[in-house]
Amino acid sequence: MPLELIVISLMRTSKWINVLMMNSPEDDSTGQRRIVVTSNGIRWIEQDFEQFTPLGKFFEINTNPEEGLTVDKETDSETAMKISLLSINDEALEKHTVNVVIEGVHLQLNESMACGLQCSNCYKDLVDMRRFNCIRPMPIYTLKPTKYFCSNDQMHSTICEGDLYYALNYIVISPMILGKRVIRNREHLHCSRCLQLVGESLGEQMAVQLFVDTLFVSSRSQHEVGRLEHLFDQLTVSQLMLHLLHDAVPISEEKTRLFLKTVRSDGQLHYMLLLVDTSQLHLLRSKLSLSEHLNSTNGRRRSPKSYNELEPEPKRQRLSDIKPVHEVEVRGFRGCRISYHIFSSDEQLAANDELIEQWHKDGTPMLRISYAMMMDLHRELKINETLVAKMERSTPDVKEGRTSYIIYHN
Ligand SMILES: [Zn+2]
Repeated sequence: MPLELIVISLMRTSKWINVLMMNSPEDDSTGQRRIVVTSNGIRWIEQDFEQFTPLGKFFEINTNPEEGLTVDKETDSETAMKISLLSINDEALEKHTVNVVIEGVHLQLNESMACGLQCSNCYKDLVDMRRFNCIRPMPIYTLKPTKYFCSNDQMHSTICEGDLYYALNYIVISPMILGKRVIRNREHLHCSRCLQLVGESLGEQMAVQLFVDTLFVSSRSQHEVGRLEHLFDQLTVSQLMLHLLHDAVPISEEKTRLFLKTVRSDGQLHYMLLLVDTSQLHLLRSKLSLSEHLNSTNGRRRSPKSYNELEPEPKRQRLSDIKPVHEVEVRGFRGCRISYHIFSSDEQLAANDELIEQWHKDGTPMLRISYAMMMDLHRELKINETLVAKMERSTPDVKEGRTSYIIYHN
């Protein structure tokens, strides 16, 4: 029953790690193995071999039995432990960690291409077929373009008629080219035919922000009409999260908030409320399927059944004293730890009205992302939720929301 996977999580402000060790599914008995934690790593000891995860270069583990180790949960297929640390080697941790940097958003539209924009709900032309003189990404990462266009120190004035800025889920253009095709209700802009909310005004006569997921784009031939969001290169969830964190609102030294909104194509509103730990999450993870690797490098290893039969023989016992040791290599990843709620039906929205109102009252700005983005984010959170529940030995708290991680990959 060899070790199949080891995952270690650490909040960079804490002096302890969560460890999850999972068995190979080939046998469901726990009787064969022993786990020994030493100051420089974790040993998984089987009858005729050992798997050692060296951690000495990253941490010095506290081996004092009174304060060092808690095995909180052990099942047939996994063992979860909380281990206290005496010290952390930040330099080594950084050196062995995948570095994911925020990347810009790419739009497959350039100044030589003519295009028109339509409401995605009723196909009303909102911007006539035209070429933009200057198409460029927003100079800052934000879902709140007012941060750039209306900030006091930027002193930006009216956007030129031929300019188009773009970001995660919006474009910014001049209000002059929209004319009377939208109806303005305070800062909100609605399609004048079907009243779908298509964007927001960024100051009188200065600039407008249009939500990409409410627009169709047509090309010169008029035969090609597609969703504008399809002209944006799809972002990974890691990139999406890194972008979103630029607009997170701190509520304490430990937590920041993100209040996300999306509208499904049938008009159903979804809210996602995220409470993100400001302390960085660090994850160390072995390769998947360690046992497969073991089988390919250790022809001598017998199946558990066969050494069960051999167990009483004293000769066999002596052999086990010089058992081979297989080193388990771990790789580091950064990420963030999140507690979240998602409300995706009118019933759920109504049932959680108080919480939503509270976030509004606290001044947490609502950020609109596309439906596909919210689904990507939710899918990743759901996948990691099971891992986190096992690692942190926690049970979901309805009030606090579900707890999960976003782990950054390239
Ligand atoms: Zn419309």
